[in-house]
Amino acid sequence: MGRALALLLARERLRVGWVTSPALARPSSDPDVRAYALNAKSKALLESLRCWPEPEQATDVLKMQIKGDRGGEVNFRASDLDVPALMWIVDVPSLEARLATAIGFEARIEVLDGPRPAALTVVCEGKSSSTRSEFGVEFEVKPYHQSAIAARLRCERPHDQCACQWFSGGEILAFLPLDGPQGNSLAVVWSVARERVDELLVMDEAEFCRSVEAVSEGRFGALRLISGRSAWPLQSAHARRWSGCHRGESWVLAGDAAHNVHPLAGQGLNLGLADVAALSATLGGREYWRPVGDQRLLRRYERERKLQVLAMDRTVDGLQSLFASEAPLWQAARNWGMRGFDRSAVLKHWMARQAMGS
Ligand SMILES: Cc1cc2nc3c(=O)[nH]c(=O)nc-3n(C[C@H](O)[C@H](O)[C@H](O)COP(=O)(O)OP(=O)(O)OC[C@H]3O[C@@H](n4cnc5c(N)ncnc54)[C@H](O)[C@@H]3O)c2cc1C
Repeated sequence: MGRALALLLARERLRVGWVTSPALARPSSDPDVRAYALNAKSKALLESLRCWPEPEQATDVLKMQIKGDRGGEVNFRASDLDVPALMWIVDVPSLEARLATAIGFEARIEVLDGPRPAALTVVCEGKSSSTRSEFGVEFEVKPYHQSAIAARLRCERPHDQCACQWFSGGEILAFLPLDGPQGNSLAVVWSVARERVDELLVMDEAEFCRSVEAVSEGRFGALRLISGRSAWPLQSAHARRWSGCHRGESWVLAGDAAHNVHPLAGQGLNLGLADVAALSATLGGREYWRPVGDQRLLRRYERERKLQVLAMDRTVDGLQSLFASEAPLWQAARNWGMRGFDRSAVLKHWMARQAMGS
């Protein structure tokens, strides 16, 4: 997200210092196994920066199937909504490589190995940001007592451009189609109780695949692990303030440094990219006499984005809580609700549009 922002600000003819931290860089021998579900707005933004990956690394999702734990089911189809795709599943290393190359070609961006005095510092350091703490910003965290395990699998049957999700026993398993329309690989995100994580990470590969097959009801046939397994602890979190002044210098937060949401709806980076689009538009459209570090300007951005992020977080958090309860009454109610929702074209249309960022 930070790289996308640097490119957007350079396009606004601002001079940008891009601060890297080699100590924090992921070794190339350990690539990120995740894939991001990105919406149409994120796609348009990345395309405008010429950083959208090739079709094999950005698979169109034409169908989506969400299953409850007692027969509840919701289906979405791009054709019903009259859109080319519901979302795109983007390979993380490919996207990061594109953004890094674009930064290298941008003369207005200087790569720095440490922070320097600046008219405005944008903190894009992710959820564990040390600069946010240094600036004394309170970060309110609600832990979910769940971790997401991510991995890649080869499946026996082609994915047919369908993304699937199973809500079962408080856990959530998501399959995201990879490698383009003809692909038969999946990015898996499995949100499980913290106590189960270590066991699932070290479990024999065949046994891990059998566990995933059992939850996914053999949807794509036999599965084979084709990557390592990584885990992320999950939380909902919000910075109290997103902008301010520290020792006379202005700062602002964006992306996971400002907010974290549960990945069940695949919205974290979409929200971050919407932050950077809003921030660059605010800075680019400022009155000629306002400096980029003007506090009013930064609060304008903060107000606009906080509202949207809060709405998304409430929705995602509500879904997480609804499916976390194992009480039979809740189980019956939510599965009944899913079936009703699936039959309501108007509600489905509205919900899909929200998730698609339109
Ligand atoms: C399992 C899982 C699946 C997900 N799936 C989706 C999805 O499908 N769709 C979606 O939209 N979102 C998804 N997300 C959320 C998404 O990963 C995050 O919202 C997104 O990565 C946030 O981007 P960011 O740039 O704000 O932070 P990060 O991706 O955390 O990047 C922060 C960067 O800052 C660097 N950094 C930190 N401190 C410093 C420092 N002091 N100096 C210099 N650099 C520093 C870090 O090394 C890192 O490179 C998922 C998350 C998880 C855990």
